[in-house]
Amino acid sequence: MKQYEVVIVGGGINGCGLIRDLALNGVSTLLIDKGDFASQTSQGSSKMLHGGIRYLENFDFGLVAEALEEKNLWLKLTPHLCFERDFYLPLYKYSKYAPWMLGLGLFIYDFLSHFHNRPFAVLNAQETLKKIPSLDPKDLKGSGKYYDGVVDDAKLTLECLYDALLEPCAEAHSYQEVTACLKTNDGYEITYQSVKDKSQKTVKAKFVVFTTGPFTDQLLPKLNIPWKPQLIPSKGIHLWLKKGSIDAQGSVVLTTKDNRVVFVIPQRDSILVGTTETPVDQDMFNIQATKTEIQYLLNVLKQYFPNSDFDESSIISTFAGVRPLVKEEGHNDALGKVSRFHKIFRPDHRTYVLLGGKYTTFRRMTQEIAQELLPRLGKRYQPNLTLNPLRQKSLMPTFGEKPALTMGMIKQIIKQEHVTTFEDLVKRRLSLLDEPQHLKNVMGIPVDEVKALFK
Ligand SMILES: Cc1cc2nc3c(=O)[nH]c(=O)nc-3n(C[C@H](O)[C@H](O)[C@H](O)COP(=O)(O)OP(=O)(O)OC[C@H]3O[C@@H](n4cnc5c(N)ncnc54)[C@H](O)[C@@H]3O)c2cc1C
Repeated sequence: MKQYEVVIVGGGINGCGLIRDLALNGVSTLLIDKGDFASQTSQGSSKMLHGGIRYLENFDFGLVAEALEEKNLWLKLTPHLCFERDFYLPLYKYSKYAPWMLGLGLFIYDFLSHFHNRPFAVLNAQETLKKIPSLDPKDLKGSGKYYDGVVDDAKLTLECLYDALLEPCAEAHSYQEVTACLKTNDGYEITYQSVKDKSQKTVKAKFVVFTTGPFTDQLLPKLNIPWKPQLIPSKGIHLWLKKGSIDAQGSVVLTTKDNRVVFVIPQRDSILVGTTETPVDQDMFNIQATKTEIQYLLNVLKQYFPNSDFDESSIISTFAGVRPLVKEEGHNDALGKVSRFHKIFRPDHRTYVLLGGKYTTFRRMTQEIAQELLPRLGKRYQPNLTLNPLRQKSLMPTFGEKPALTMGMIKQIIKQEHVTTFEDLVKRRLSLLDEPQHLKNVMGIPVDEVKALFK
């Protein structure tokens, strides 16, 4: 039976971030995911690396400062996967903030970044409309302008994994579901089953780490790991709108009537709109946007861009995800109010469970586990190794100019980038926004020719 020092269950950003840190530190590690890597929450985010300007309202200064530091780090380390964007927070006569309050909030945001953010500004109505011509001019007083990061969330997850797999001590398998975790004298025997042909494999590990995000409360009791539910799952959906649906040169932060925030972020030759926040009442592995949720976002857009010409036919595609928010005793469990802090649980001596937090701070959260595990394995932890750039880039970049796609290139991507299905290829390796089932061609190549590669 093959033996590893650590087995990680769950290949989202937290699992892929952790295997990278452990592998760079020479720990033999196996990562397993039930689907493709990055195919759940870590591809369903608002695709922002950000401090979280709205968390300032809750005085979560520590969380904001840490996230801003991480955002600025990844902007430097992976300029091909993330870029800085200008965001505009419009102020109307009826807005709850006065311009001076907005200015103060934006100053604190920049201050918490140690002024590494590009500097904020408070604009008047005319200056705002120059940048966001579609915005409703009635009662507009101006806007606050600040900067945050935009990221291809699935690709950053994948590239963390590719970087880990360059180390001979790291191994990863997708489309393998962990079905048993048996305690032994010196660790665990972990069994996983192929989603395709149901074949099973059992391996040994000294430690097991669950980075299974929103699926954790359902999974751990099935594996007989002592566990009481810790999550408040919260669903969020997004729309990709056709370019030109809204005339905006920068991103816009819209405050909704129910006191939430909806982002409108031009990127990838289209416009990302999101998000919502509702309880989860569907199968979390196949979570979809509902008509009501789509209409909610379109209504918010109609309120702020009343003269823009868009409707349901302007939607290229939609996607949804589940926030793995952690319950806090004595705190408000109302969805929008639950803190974005993370928690690390140790349900028994050799098991770790990482929950909550934000995509932006994955490196810091997984570092907490790595720095505890290394001494327990008799090794010295080197914290700075994850500050190095990622070494294996995806063959098809998400942003900027793209090379012409050829069959040869597709075959190389399939081989090099751990692709199992057609959807893995088009959605996460080529970052296409059209739903795979709607594609007639894949960047110029007939879809049947590409699908034939997976038969
Ligand atoms: C709507 C929305 C918007 C967000 N926007 C932002 C944002 O803009 N910026 C930000 O910083 N954060 C954002 N977040 C938060 C961020 O996306 C999550 O915190 C992060 O992606 C969680 O990653 P994860 O690795 O813990 O979970 P996941 O990505 O869900 O990974 C868990 C993995 O576990 C696997 N798994 C489950 N069961 C098994 C099993 N039995 N065997 C093997 N594998 C299994 C799943 O297949 C899955 O791949 C957002 C979240 C949502 C939902």
